[in-house]
Amino acid sequence: MGRIHSVSVRALAEFAFERGDLTSFARAAARMRDGVRGHQALQALLPPSWRPEAPVSRDIEIGGRVLRVHGRADALSLDGEYARVLEIKTTAKDPRGIMKYDYPVHWAQGEIYACLCCLNERLPRAEVRLVYARLDGAKREYAEEYEAAELEERLVAYAGPYLDWISRVDDWRDAALPTLGALRFPYENYRDGQLEMAKRVFRAMRTGTGALIEAPTGIGKTAAALYGALKALGKGHVTAIFYLTARTTGRAAAEDALDRMRAQGLKIRSVTITAKEKACLLERRDCMGCPCAAGYFDRRRDALKRALSIQKLDAEAVRELAQEHELCPFELSLDISENADVVICDYNYAFDPRVRLKRYFDGRSRAGLLVDEAHNLADRAREMLSATLSGRRLAALRGRTARFEGKDSPMVRLMGELLAALNGRDREPESLAAPPEEILEAARRFSEVAMELEPADPEVAEFVYDCQWFVRVAKQFEEEHYRALILPEEKYLTVKLWCFDPSRHLRRALERVGGAALFSATLAPMAYYARLLGVDGAKDAALRLESPFPRENLKVLRLPVMVGMKDRERTLNAVCQVIHAMAEARPGNYLACFPSYAYLSLAYRRYRLLWPYEDVACQESRMTEPQRREFIARFQPAPARSMVAFIVLGGVFAEGVDLPDDRLLGAAIVTTGMPQLSFEREQLRELMDDAADGGQDAAYTYPGLIRVLQAAGRVIRTETDRGVVLLLDARYRQEKYRELMPPHWDVEDVGKLSRLNAELRRFWAEE
Ligand code: SF4
Repeated sequence: MGRIHSVSVRALAEFAFERGDLTSFARAAARMRDGVRGHQALQALLPPSWRPEAPVSRDIEIGGRVLRVHGRADALSLDGEYARVLEIKTTAKDPRGIMKYDYPVHWAQGEIYACLCCLNERLPRAEVRLVYARLDGAKREYAEEYEAAELEERLVAYAGPYLDWISRVDDWRDAALPTLGALRFPYENYRDGQLEMAKRVFRAMRTGTGALIEAPTGIGKTAAALYGALKALGKGHVTAIFYLTARTTGRAAAEDALDRMRAQGLKIRSVTITAKEKACLLERRDCMGCPCAAGYFDRRRDALKRALSIQKLDAEAVRELAQEHELCPFELSLDISENADVVICDYNYAFDPRVRLKRYFDGRSRAGLLVDEAHNLADRAREMLSATLSGRRLAALRGRTARFEGKDSPMVRLMGELLAALNGRDREPESLAAPPEEILEAARRFSEVAMELEPADPEVAEFVYDCQWFVRVAKQFEEEHYRALILPEEKYLTVKLWCFDPSRHLRRALERVGGAALFSATLAPMAYYARLLGVDGAKDAALRLESPFPRENLKVLRLPVMVGMKDRERTLNAVCQVIHAMAEARPGNYLACFPSYAYLSLAYRRYRLLWPYEDVACQESRMTEPQRREFIARFQPAPARSMVAFIVLGGVFAEGVDLPDDRLLGAAIVTTGMPQLSFEREQLRELMDDAADGGQDAAYTYPGLIRVLQAAGRVIRTETDRGVVLLLDARYRQEKYRELMPPHWDVEDVGKLSRLNAELRRFWAEE
């Protein structure tokens, strides 16, 4: 027997009947899922001869190829004559409005189960019953009878095209596999630590465990991680690799590393998933009326076939393919990801329960995960797992809907009911151990009824989804990982079901895949991050690599300037003088990094006042992509006179930006980078206070230090780079900070400006 392909009954039926539009409501309806509660209620009413959740499977041979079709029928009854199959579809709509043949895909599912049963039990006839049910008990039932031979014909008609398609995918894999075995490291030599990192990644994927790797900037993490993972892919330890990154620069680095490997003969199909807003082909996104959404499923198959012959599907290539077939590029990239070898995307496609890729991350899979810049993952996971219900947002939407639909429309009335529960007059911020019952009940009612009203306004539809998510998060609210934050905003409340500790969710997510390596240049202290990111269970989970670059190439000076909130105005001139001294010591480009836009703007204005003719640049909040590119273009190699760029710590220019070869000579980092005080931060400090590391460190010290080390990491990117890092804050002298400094830093204290000048002159003279 040749290779056996495996497919679930549901996937086969969906493949056979994929057609129609891509509106979110249409997709939701076409994919009515098993609602556990609805199913159990109906299954409980069946006579004892019916078996609920009955597993069914059979190998079907067509044209010498074998397809293993498997699934779990909602209920099954077999006697000597008949196979009876029950398919239950839970729906939020009124089921009485659903006609018998509205969803052929549901009939196909029932027919496939019925056919497998007839073949397995040698039965001549079958009956399929299809029940559409709503949780409140409303239902609609249809039935159809079949001869076994007729069912077999249908199964072959469904399975044949699927086998054709899957054989093409396999042909590609057969061609790619030998090239994975022959793959060599894409550079002439390994940098120190690269081989060790590649081996650790390979081991994580071979053993299906998690690894946390701190690898200093410039080590070549991307190439090392991908190389280890591709070797694991070649050995069959994982079935696909997900390169997860929070930034566009991380995506480009992964694409470049794969290009290098392809240049050496590697055959690998990669796809980059770009966020919907960025990928959209329309000038103003309007998915409901978009021609790329209309008839999406009618044209999708041809585009996917074409995609099988393209190795590199980056944003540009996906866009071209989408334009060629008039398809939504975002949805197309998601569909391509199902059969790609490497998927380059944001964290949320793996970890966010709302948008994660079902095929790989809803249940168990053998996907291998590479998590780049992993220090960002905990905060991102907190966002993904939390849910917010904002009264202010709802009030604005209600006003808009009233203008379009009239004050008495059902949607406006419904919004009014929820808004009444979110009245926030005279409330103070609060942190509760459980979701507030009255608000939750209002949200539950709103989300159930609003779905039926099928809002046409995309922003209202988005609010309805967010409200559903709020209700769902409330169901999984665990006191030890969640808090309900009540935040008054003007006259309304915002309620946030806030996941302050995402470690359990991340641990579960990592346990379900075929292995994961999480890496970053800054993961100090590692024991804390291993626990927070859910990888502390594996043996030898953490690996810390040394910097491959000569330590004497980096000069780190600590200056005891008082830069706390109350001292900022007083010490502003001193801070500017230090920055100026750094820029004066040698012509070049420099960063001046501040913890907030307010402090940044204060310092920038003072600097300009003191040295009006010097070359300076200043980051602004919410810069557009072209503005960002313009900003980066200011960093020309070896300029004749110095340029100082004022940037914010933790912002787009302080992380993930590569400025090698004399384009950056130094960074002055003002403060220890601690996040600003806020109600949420303070809650985090209190809630994490009994954890091993203490709340102050978890909420402020560690996140601050990561921002500092990331900014400092911009300075040395290659073996030949030399540069300076100035740490301006008296707190850096504390024992805690001394211990957290990277081991390859030789930190020296400098008390006076004259000494700073002398040290900088000496350092540059050594060059
Ligand atoms: S192309 Fe844009 S508007 Fe059209 S479906 Fe995609 S994201 Fe929506």
